[in-house]
Amino acid sequence: MHTPMFSLEVFPPKRDAPVGTIYDTLDGIEDLKPDFISVTYGHGTHSDRTATARIANTIVNEYRIPAVAHLTALYSDKAKIDEALDMFENAGVNTVLALRGDYIDGEQVVGAFEHASDLVAYIRERKPNFTVFGACYPEGHYQAESLDKDIEHLKIKVDAGVTHLITQLFYDNDDFYRFRDKVRAAGITVPIEAGIMPVRGAKSVRRMAERNASRIPEHLDELLTRWEGNAEALHNAGILYASEQIADLVAHDVDGVHLYTMNHPATTRRIWRNVKSLFGE
Ligand code: FAD
Repeated sequence: MHTPMFSLEVFPPKRDAPVGTIYDTLDGIEDLKPDFISVTYGHGTHSDRTATARIANTIVNEYRIPAVAHLTALYSDKAKIDEALDMFENAGVNTVLALRGDYIDGEQVVGAFEHASDLVAYIRERKPNFTVFGACYPEGHYQAESLDKDIEHLKIKVDAGVTHLITQLFYDNDDFYRFRDKVRAAGITVPIEAGIMPVRGAKSVRRMAERNASRIPEHLDELLTRWEGNAEALHNAGILYASEQIADLVAHDVDGVHLYTMNHPATTRRIWRNVKSLFGE
């Protein structure tokens, strides 16, 4: 039996947040010794393109934890992608989660990369020493005409050079198991890490589920309805829900769990305390 991977995701603090906030987050999670910490990438033309590389640099060189840099394609030309890849390399980061990014109302896409698979192929060509990760969607991507079609596209992305997949958040493990079976049947053999997002607020869960076209299972819906007016109770229930999801995934031989920390170290630590023995800790 294998020990699954355990990784975390953080995001660069908003431009107006104090610079030290990312240190508070990293200080709070460093002793969990995750297999890696990934850092998200702003996808609009106005986002600070250096933030991901700077934080990934800090994770690798100050915290001595492997880092994965996200990189989005829609609003970048090849020169900007080259610049980002060089920044990552100089920071000692050579694993990139290659993403298409979402369309933003009113912003003009550049047109250099249409799908994430185009970016994957480009990174493989420019930086053959880099490892490239990709995103996948247990309930199907919200723009895909069907889950099967989405998995056909996923195969193209993996064949372009992705060696590791991380899923979008999901709240029903059966959706993940169904997806994994289909992915394996499609001949995709790379590891699939399950993305788990702890519930914090009822409104944010419902908003996120709508945006990603993801389902809120009845059991979770009952918790949200019951504790909507009691933030502390819902937070506690969310920690238990995520912990149970993880325990069930490990029991079903998941390749790894990727926890979306939302830069909340206390929540992350409580979940880790509940599940760490399942990861051999
Ligand atoms: P793709 O793989 O290109 O897929 C997008 C859509 O295009 C799908 O419907 C797919 O079926 C279709 N498609 C793909 N290839 C083809 C093809 N060859 N022909 C026709 N159709 C095709 N966003 C950010 O802005 N920053 C982040 O840091 C970030 N991190 C993320 C991390 C994870 C783990 C996940 C799951 C998502 C993340 N996102 C992030 C969101 C992501 O950018 C969006 O979900 C985006 O809509 C799709 O990106 P993708 O890389 O999966 O796209």
